[in-house]
Amino acid sequence: MIHLEVAVAAPIADTLTYSFNGPNITRLTPGVRLLVPLGRRKTTGYLLALQEAGDTDFKIKEISDVLDREPLFPAEMIPFFRWIATYYRYPIGEVIKNALPGGLTSQSGRRVLLTEYGKKALADFLACQPDKAARWIHELLQKESFSPAHTRTLWRLKKQRAELSQWQEKKCLVIEEIIQPSQSKPKTETCLGLAKVKAPEVKLKKSEEKTVSLLAGMLEKSSQDLIPRKELTRAYSGARKALVSLAEKGIIHMKEKQVFRDPFGEQPPFFPKPEQLTGEQQGVLAHILPAIEQKKFTTFLLHGVTGSGKTEVYLQASQKALDEKRSVLLLVPEIALASQLEAHFYSRFGRKVALLHSGLSSGERFDQWQQIMRGEAAIVIGARSALFAPLADPGLIIIDEEHDSAYKQEDSLRYQARDMAVLRGKLQNAPVLLGSATPSLASFHNAHSGKYQLLSLKNRIENRPLPDVSVVDLREVKNKKEGLPFFSQELLSALHDNLGKGNQSLIFLNRRGYASLMLCQDCGSPVKCRHCNISLTLHKSRNLLSCHYCGYTAKSAIICPSCQSAKVKEIGFGTERIEEELQNRFPSARIARLDRDTSTSRRKFLKILKAVHNQEIDILVGTQMITKGHHFPHVTLVGIIWADAGLGLPDYKAGERTFQLISQVTGRAGRGDKPGKVIIQTHQPDHYAVTCAKQHDYIGFAEKEMQLRNALQFPPFSRLVNIRFSGENEDKVKEAAMSIARKARPIAASMNIDVLGPASAPLSRLRNKFRWQLLLKCADSGFLHILCDQLSQKLSHTGSRSVTISFDIDPENML
Ligand code: ADP
Ligand code: ZN
Ligand code: ZN
Repeated sequence: MIHLEVAVAAPIADTLTYSFNGPNITRLTPGVRLLVPLGRRKTTGYLLALQEAGDTDFKIKEISDVLDREPLFPAEMIPFFRWIATYYRYPIGEVIKNALPGGLTSQSGRRVLLTEYGKKALADFLACQPDKAARWIHELLQKESFSPAHTRTLWRLKKQRAELSQWQEKKCLVIEEIIQPSQSKPKTETCLGLAKVKAPEVKLKKSEEKTVSLLAGMLEKSSQDLIPRKELTRAYSGARKALVSLAEKGIIHMKEKQVFRDPFGEQPPFFPKPEQLTGEQQGVLAHILPAIEQKKFTTFLLHGVTGSGKTEVYLQASQKALDEKRSVLLLVPEIALASQLEAHFYSRFGRKVALLHSGLSSGERFDQWQQIMRGEAAIVIGARSALFAPLADPGLIIIDEEHDSAYKQEDSLRYQARDMAVLRGKLQNAPVLLGSATPSLASFHNAHSGKYQLLSLKNRIENRPLPDVSVVDLREVKNKKEGLPFFSQELLSALHDNLGKGNQSLIFLNRRGYASLMLCQDCGSPVKCRHCNISLTLHKSRNLLSCHYCGYTAKSAIICPSCQSAKVKEIGFGTERIEEELQNRFPSARIARLDRDTSTSRRKFLKILKAVHNQEIDILVGTQMITKGHHFPHVTLVGIIWADAGLGLPDYKAGERTFQLISQVTGRAGRGDKPGKVIIQTHQPDHYAVTCAKQHDYIGFAEKEMQLRNALQFPPFSRLVNIRFSGENEDKVKEAAMSIARKARPIAASMNIDVLGPASAPLSRLRNKFRWQLLLKCADSGFLHILCDQLSQKLSHTGSRSVTISFDIDPENML
């Protein structure tokens, strides 16, 4: 007998021990899923370790089944999972469940099997008491088993549930927990390769000759053994017929192969390798490549201005890791927004690249996962959750746009993928490369203190100048229309000029919709969501008011909910309104909008980007969707409508976010041959986030922001834990928060921990739930963990079901 350490997919903090008695021990590799008894039911667990069975003073249950033939994650990742579970105070089984591709545990179900004894006993019962027997008994006697779908329908009724259980106790039937096998099929397409060199006596037709030489050329260019048939027939339609005869002659061969598709289902554009690296690129790589070669964990912070060629650094470093026979993990903030980066990797490394992104069906995602697990994909690109890609031996981990808030998961397991990537590098001896034009203050601080190594690319490729930025003080703008200053004269004439020259412009506002507020003219109250304490936004084209937090919508013809007045007026503005105003002012301009309302699908999103790329659009209006990663060479003017919109938020990161946003938008201008111009409109022209962004002065900004954070002892000079309370009954939520605060204070005082609050969260009600929070702040994260441990213990005694309490470790969003 042997003991197994199992992490069950249930809210249990620690791992559990089970036993295994069967003969087939070879299938028990760490990383396989098991079916294990837990209380009165069975559940999925993940095998973490095998131990010699020793004496225990409690009874150890036996596992029910081994669910996988091959492990779902390499054993090398187990210490990583353990670390995350401890640090984020999250049940280890749920950490693993979160890490694995979705759909693996949801496939489980029950089925009913008739036993040999039951065949006789149920038949007897039916014969003696035909009117008492339920219909399902007839069916079971006929079919001898029920599928999970059938069982599920029976299970819905309490009476039938009870009957099934009774007959199970009498051993007439078995209710079995099963996991259905994954129904995924890999996507394949026909690929072609050259089979043998043509013998001189074989005569080929003209079309066959042409096909062979085209194929040879394409194979050489891609440095692969196979290329998709589509690529060849697209280049030469005569190849279709020739291929059949060539295959018969044995000159080419065809094979079904799983192929890479970009997230939009298209062949991504090809980017050639640059002739030569710039001096700066070489200088940076001179630090990175040796660390990859020596398999040494180091964290590099690559600070490179927009357009300085960071991608090429990533590519060369990745090549080095592949040369060392190790793999590469590349995280991007949002996969849909990183198509350009993927295309670069695909151009350089072809089918060695695997993409993990949310656009895949769960089956496709599982396929990609297995391919990575088998070591068939050397480079994995994905968004936040790709942090958990099952690479046994990564040789390099890259986090692009490391400052991006998308790396923080804001529900369930609230992890920061950038920080965890650094940890993963440490546990697996891999160098980590964080890249950004506007590094997060946390990373900058780590570079300052010597924890990370700072590398810089200070100049744009070919010494293209950074755009010329001017700031317009909105307080002095005269053409304010009913208090809404959309466009300053400067911005309008710059747009006019740019249109005249046939160049493209970007107009940025980080708010979608038409009007951000509907205000009652009689009683002065704003129209709020029924479920949240949030004002509704008007979406004029859809004739709707909508809540941007819960999705609630209402007809736009509304009367004031407080006083029933019909005089409700739209106030404030969003991208939809900006687009309309611009179209009125420039009737002949081709204007498009990119925000979550216009890009509801990937296809629509790509269509807009393509139109901009093909210069079919003169002005693109958008939210922060337009800021990330795109390389539009013909954009020469960028206008920021309201740069300080986010500065008033009750969040210690407001300044940092604003600087990053302005800098990233600014970086979209002048990336081609023509120089760029940026106009920032703001009410706070003297705010350092604005002045530093204007001067492209990241270091100046970071130093100023560090001083302020230091003065207030906010991160990175302290660590935070935000304890969140939510529930439908406001009094109970408040009471729970107060009670935890009372318990926390005396312990906190002895460890120099500040307890801030409890207070109602800035978004005080969301999706019908009231929200309170309690912020803990301390220079030492160890103390914070001790306090949280003690509070958790108290919680487990007094936990009230109507209030959900969760710990947000290193919170980034204070709303
Ligand atoms: P970043 O990611 O730093 O904003 P990119 O990596 O997008 O910048 O590089 C900007 C442009 O410069 C891209 O079109 C890229 O192909 C090109 N580029 C990068 N390195 C070189 C080089 N060494 N020589 C010529 N062009 C380069
Ligand atoms: Zn009113
Ligand atoms: Zn809402």
